[in-house]
Amino acid sequence: MFSDQARTGEETVSGPGWSSMVIGVWADKHGVHNNDFTENAYHQYPDFLTRLEQVDSTFNTFAVVDWPPLGEQVDGGPLFGDAIDVKVTFDGEEMGYDVADSLSVVAAVEHLTDADPDAVFVYLGYIDIVGHDTSSLDPLYLAAIEAADVQVGQLIAAVRARASYQDEDWLILMSTDHGRRDDGGHGGQSLEERTIFYLASGATPDSLTGIDRPDGPFVVDVAVTALDHLGVAIDPAWGLDGTVRR
Ligand SMILES: [Zn+2]
Repeated sequence: MFSDQARTGEETVSGPGWSSMVIGVWADKHGVHNNDFTENAYHQYPDFLTRLEQVDSTFNTFAVVDWPPLGEQVDGGPLFGDAIDVKVTFDGEEMGYDVADSLSVVAAVEHLTDADPDAVFVYLGYIDIVGHDTSSLDPLYLAAIEAADVQVGQLIAAVRARASYQDEDWLILMSTDHGRRDDGGHGGQSLEERTIFYLASGATPDSLTGIDRPDGPFVVDVAVTALDHLGVAIDPAWGLDGTVRR
């Protein structure tokens, strides 16, 4: 399914947005309400890759990020836990997010080519930076989106080039942490700041397919859909807020 009318939470900043996406719960549970991660409840509500490892440590998990608190002990992070089999962090703040995104994609392509991951997470940060530096209406912003589109294409090509691809069942999920205003800013509760895209592409669409469901999709659906696709039974005791949408 694809929706360009999906919703993120009311706090349209990256800390709560990415936390909600990769954990599957809203900020009232994961505890991150801005880009200070120190009050996080990640021990109770882990990212979906850590959740996979807790359910069955034989899952082969991989994450690459270039916003440091997502991967390292920065600002109260990391969002992605240390039980993940391979976790790579590039410092987009230091080297620039355009360079760091490229390195992230190279690392993910290498891993998809040389290893046998069950679940892969790739973070691309450059578009947000360009949006702040210019605006959502600037040609540079569109160019940054096009560059990310090429990078997503490289990742999909790497999946399809796997020797065992015909025997595998990949679900590709893509979304973002928040929308933004025409001036490039975000953080408020306006509809344009809360509106995001949600894309799920795989071989086995389920009965929920449809782009105009009034009740979402929501950013918290990403992690729950990923867990479900990997055959994990969602335990109600986990308190996840998302639902399966693919
Ligand atoms: Zn931003």
